[in-house]
Amino acid sequence: MSSLFPALTDDPGERVALRFGDRSLTYARLAAAAGAVAGRVRGAGRVAVWATPTLETAVAVVGTLLAGAAAVPLNPRSGGTELAHILSDSAPSLVLAAPGDVLPDPVAGLPRVDVDAGARGPVPEDRTAGSEPALVVYTSGTTGPPKGAVIPRRAVAHTLDALADAWEWTGDDVLVHGLPLFHVHGLVLGVLGPLRRGGTVRHLGRFDPRGAGRELSDGATMLFGVPTMYHRIAEELPGDPELAAAYAGARLLVSGSAALPVHDHERITEATGRRVVERYGMTETLMNTSVRADGAPRPGTVGVPLPGVELRLVEEDGTPFAAYDGERVGEIQVRGPNLFTEYLNRPEATAAAFTADGWFRTGDMAVRESDGCVRIVGRKATDLIKSGGYKIGAGEIENALLEHPGVREAAVTGEPDADLGERIVAWVVPADPQSPPGLAELAGHVAGRLAPHKRPRVLRLLDALPRNDMGKIMKRALEPGAGA
Ligand code: ATP
Ligand code: MG
Repeated sequence: MSSLFPALTDDPGERVALRFGDRSLTYARLAAAAGAVAGRVRGAGRVAVWATPTLETAVAVVGTLLAGAAAVPLNPRSGGTELAHILSDSAPSLVLAAPGDVLPDPVAGLPRVDVDAGARGPVPEDRTAGSEPALVVYTSGTTGPPKGAVIPRRAVAHTLDALADAWEWTGDDVLVHGLPLFHVHGLVLGVLGPLRRGGTVRHLGRFDPRGAGRELSDGATMLFGVPTMYHRIAEELPGDPELAAAYAGARLLVSGSAALPVHDHERITEATGRRVVERYGMTETLMNTSVRADGAPRPGTVGVPLPGVELRLVEEDGTPFAAYDGERVGEIQVRGPNLFTEYLNRPEATAAAFTADGWFRTGDMAVRESDGCVRIVGRKATDLIKSGGYKIGAGEIENALLEHPGVREAAVTGEPDADLGERIVAWVVPADPQSPPGLAELAGHVAGRLAPHKRPRVLRLLDALPRNDMGKIMKRALEPGAGA
């Protein structure tokens, strides 16, 4: 296929490609440094990358792709057991790391190549087929142990070009980045995306609302974040007009990886006059849908399918919906050039994930408006509660709870109930731990906004919700008895 990074391979110039802290690389210097990596990993098959949030990680992944090999990004915060699993599963032939990185046991056993961001090597000609793997990315592990998704080069190219269409994303854009580099969001969208467009990434190392605000008032045009980041932004903007002005100047604020609570959407819009654009994707499918930059603001929805992506909702027995009414809940299935090839070494899991005619079962439940707009209600495995003959999505109850002033964070689950089948449990981090809201108060609040059968029957108070590295709520850790 044609080059993944035309701005690197066809006459790279002096525009800044990457900036991490006070270190940066122009396209010309990045091409040279990545070319040097490519020279070291040629023919390596799969290459592990010790994915710290550094310039070296970006150079390592780009160099690996230029060499036609596949990068396996490792989360440096993973424990030894998880790393050992990933290494034995993906069997990389070497590991790329930044000079000075201390690698823990299972990783230190691999042949190591240090990435020199100042090195210069020739950029190889890219003749790799689109069906060849670009990346093996492990899923976030929100619902079970992480699975290695083999992502082909054409999926990367397709998803980035589809997002460019939806977001009017060009080489003039400067992205503020504060996410880790071992998942699709931070790596594919946040690093490979700007590089494919010929634009600039400015990585903050560690996200904070003010640091991102400074970049936005200093020429940056877009921010990619997860809901926990936008929550912090929503909390800080109202008391800080200067910060609000910085965010108001952004061309595009994008959220994804988990649902952005409507309450946070609304607070950000109130403080800035701007809306947050939400998109929906997965490790296995890269991006599926997005609200479009030129589309109407629709808080609580993830927009419409991206160009080239087919999306449908199906009944429990797999029958596709004949029409959409904005009410009926079904599982999302997707098909298109954005899809992964397989779960590494898991032919059974791969087979189970696809229908006979090639649709991928996302495990996410949604309703769809007649105009095609998708609203996710939660995951089939953890967020769909069957109570009193109703199928209830945890998401809308969480959104309603978050609008209560006494609630800081909320998660909703179901637990077995002799009468109802399942009863709705609200896990709440109170805004003021000294005077938390009571069950009757919250049940009344939810019943008033949604419907009486959607009110929580049990309230469990916590100091914090269990979240993974992407800020996703780990519902499998919310066992009865975990509450205070
Ligand atoms: P695992 O598959 O290991 O349990 P995971 O599903 O969290 O973990 P990812 O592939 O990183 O791993 O995440 C994809 C999931 O994230 C989607 O299936 C969906 O449930 C959720 N998600 C992503 N974007 C959104 C969004 N905008 N709104 C709601 N959910 C989202
Ligand atoms: Mg998943």
